[in-house]
Amino acid sequence: MLGVCTDLHTCYSAAVVGSFPPLQTYSEEENMMREAVKKYAQERIAPFVSKMDENSAMDEDVIKSLFEQGLMGIEIDPEYGGTGSTFFSSILVIEELAKVDPSVAVLCDIQNTLINTLFVKLGTPAQKEQYLSRLSTDMIGSFCLSEAEAGSDAFALKTRAEKHKDYYIINGSKMWISNAEHAGVFLVMANVDPSAGYRGITCFIVDQDTEGLEICKKENKLGLRASSTCPLNFDNVKVPEKNILGQIGHGYKYAIGMLNEGRIGIAAQMLGLAQGCFDNTIPYTRQRVQFGKRIFDFQGMQHQIAHVATQIEAARLLTYNAARLKEAGRPFIKEACMAKYFCAELATLTTSKCIEWMGGVGFTKDYPIEKYYRDCKIGTIYEGTTNVQLSTMAKFIDKEYDH
Ligand SMILES: Cc1cc2nc3c(=O)[nH]c(=O)nc-3n(C[C@H](O)[C@H](O)[C@H](O)COP(=O)(O)OP(=O)(O)OC[C@H]3O[C@@H](n4cnc5c(N)ncnc54)[C@H](O)[C@@H]3O)c2cc1C
Repeated sequence: MLGVCTDLHTCYSAAVVGSFPPLQTYSEEENMMREAVKKYAQERIAPFVSKMDENSAMDEDVIKSLFEQGLMGIEIDPEYGGTGSTFFSSILVIEELAKVDPSVAVLCDIQNTLINTLFVKLGTPAQKEQYLSRLSTDMIGSFCLSEAEAGSDAFALKTRAEKHKDYYIINGSKMWISNAEHAGVFLVMANVDPSAGYRGITCFIVDQDTEGLEICKKENKLGLRASSTCPLNFDNVKVPEKNILGQIGHGYKYAIGMLNEGRIGIAAQMLGLAQGCFDNTIPYTRQRVQFGKRIFDFQGMQHQIAHVATQIEAARLLTYNAARLKEAGRPFIKEACMAKYFCAELATLTTSKCIEWMGGVGFTKDYPIEKYYRDCKIGTIYEGTTNVQLSTMAKFIDKEYDH
């Protein structure tokens, strides 16, 4: 009988007949997207990378071109000016962008995996009409959860939203808000009822020009320098009730949910970063001669290079698997944590090794390797530190052995 394995032979035949495509198989659309973004990143981003890093500033033309290419509203319905593509395509785009500049990748990542998704999933028709069309065409959004005393323990946040007639007054401050310098809208987690603990956390839509919202001086960072990271102050910021996104008191659920998905984006960012760094290094090892040989030809080098290449392959499989699971509507949280954790470790390993393989020049700014090395460190920190990923995985593993 079809679909039922009565013996090993039947099972084997069924497996062959219904065989699955390898994880690195792309649909026609995904392939086109990858190729187009690869070309775009080389032509329109690569020339600015070093200057943007040095100046700690994202080039306005780069931002404009991301919108023009449809890369800021990848999953948004064309009805709202979006590209109408898939989560997996977003992951491929983030990977391709990170090969060239991880700062540009995180701009695209946060917009697509956090901000747009929150509006798509939770927005009222009016909110969608107002924001989705802007987010896909010319407006950057920022995700505001962390505070000075609420990092890994995010739900200890103290920003307060007090209800008055048909509006709320927000007071407090946020830390580490990515892309805040250019954002037109902020999704702000604030507590409407501290007596209820984290169950008071609510998501508010706050426009950039709202009175009392101050976007403070950006941080001077080790890496990811072109991506602005700013503290925000909320001083009696008045927000109409209609600007609540989703339900009152459900903000904590939305934040957890979005970060679970978002982690796959960060995995893709770290994966792309590692691949980009590797791609910029191997040609040098094939051309540099010492002791009368290409340095690539020394067995000591070859074994290290092959090891790193294997880790990159493993990272890609973990990331694509988590993304495909998410897209198929299957449980993916443990796999997303694994992908994010592993890709951050891989990026650290790859960038460190690449500098060593390049010798002295790898340590200079004449090559892009040192920048990848600085940029990769953030992978172990944001959207849940490495310890947080490991603890979440352990919870799942513990449960799996319950029975
Ligand atoms: C460049 C950058 C961009 C960012 N962008 C955003 C953004 O757009 N929006 C936003 O809301 N936030 C953002 N963040 C904040 C980021 O998510 C937090 O920095 C992160 O969650 C860690 O919090 P923390 O810095 O307070 O570190 P802490 O939570 O203080 O952690 C410090 C160390 O303690 C460890 N630790 C903490 N608790 C535990 C535990 N229970 N078990 C084991 N170890 C533990 C951590 O793993 C870490 O090693 C950004 C941060 C940076 C640096």
